Amino acid sequence: MERKQSLDTICIQGGWTPKNGEPRVLPIYQSTTFKYETSEQMGRLFDLEENGYFYTRLANPTNDMVADKICRLEGGAAAMLTSSGQAANMFSIINLCSAGDHVVSAATIYGGTSNLFTVTLKRFGIECTLVDPDAPEEELEKAFQPNTRAVFGETIANPALVVLDIEKFARLAHRHGVPLIVDNTFATPINCRPFEWGADIVTHSTTKYMDGHAMAVGGCIVDSGNFDWEAHADKFPGLTTPDESYHGVIYTQKFGKAAYITKATAQLMRDMGPIQAPQNAFLLNVGLETLHLRMPRHCENARKVAEYLKSRGDVAWVNYPGLEGDRYYELAKKYMPNGTCGVISFGLKGGRKAAAEFMDRLKLAAIVTHVADARTSVLHPASHTHRQLSDEQLKEAGVDPAMIRLSVGIEGAEDIIEDLRQALEG
Ligand SMILES: *Cc1c(COP(=O)(O)O)cnc(C)c1O
Repeated sequence: MERKQSLDTICIQGGWTPKNGEPRVLPIYQSTTFKYETSEQMGRLFDLEENGYFYTRLANPTNDMVADKICRLEGGAAAMLTSSGQAANMFSIINLCSAGDHVVSAATIYGGTSNLFTVTLKRFGIECTLVDPDAPEEELEKAFQPNTRAVFGETIANPALVVLDIEKFARLAHRHGVPLIVDNTFATPINCRPFEWGADIVTHSTTKYMDGHAMAVGGCIVDSGNFDWEAHADKFPGLTTPDESYHGVIYTQKFGKAAYITKATAQLMRDMGPIQAPQNAFLLNVGLETLHLRMPRHCENARKVAEYLKSRGDVAWVNYPGLEGDRYYELAKKYMPNGTCGVISFGLKGGRKAAAEFMDRLKLAAIVTHVADARTSVLHPASHTHRQLSDEQLKEAGVDPAMIRLSVGIEGAEDIIEDLRQALEG
């Protein structure tokens, strides 16, 4: 058996492996289309009888090599890139669910995903029950229905910084014959590999740490290949019965462990089209080449910053799962022993007004609608992403009006702390 490479080596050399005389660096296949000698051969590609590229909406070599790198980092069986994290999460669900189906999701997920699940997918007839991820298993059982087709959660929730008990959620999902999908954006496979804890499918907003430089919006879906679709064939007819739009192919029979990703590519990407541009996949790959170096530094800096904030009298509270005493410290230690992420949330004793004044005084940290960037950035959800909500509504959404979301970058920790100090002391 081939020796397993370390994640460090996969970050650098995974995906593109040039043959003799080929470019050392992953090439950008900046082409919408691919040439063939015979019409017959092109026909076989359309029938999924042969592997090959014909149109970039369906597959592109640059994208495939980057997807393969992420697939290996997660320890999966198959993966695909999408145009954004939103597209990845949408596909992860609609690849399994049709009108009349149902999803159970942790309530603490990213606002965009929560909106997708409870507003937009609802318009397409897919219902979602949001659950408190910290609730005991017996309580969570009650959210399941006969038409439940998937369970969803985030390894570390954005922005709530709730750590998902992956094993608990995997047990629940599997007891009901459905897969667990985990959005692993904040932890990245460097800090957590959800498949090792029972998750079946992993999604990413590659826009965040994987890119890491705020250059390109993108997403990824990885399938572990572990979920037995045929054992629950009645629940997943899309994977286990003929797809008439593809000459009656049965994905599980023809593609085995790649069934889920092949269906998402051949059917969903064909019909809906949110592909990642090969240029963006190239930029994403550059980011991935240093992911294993950047993540430990993000975590180290965030820990120092969290400790500093905690030591100050004008700071009311600090949430950081990597900080001893945090509500999620024990779960974080179990699932992410080497570190969590670089995102911290905290509140000032002066509340909403003090938060705005503090942010305006920052010099190094920039006010941007982004997280998980090499540069330290800051956002005030009550004034920005959740601006339309009253203080009362904010509480219901679990957002303290005073909450500041700080994405700690990889600058010198002492400079970040000095910037925070001067802004707090104004
Ligand atoms: C940002 C984010 C998304 C959405 O990703 P985009 O690339 O912005 O579409 C989904 N999930 C999480 C956890 C995120 O942080």
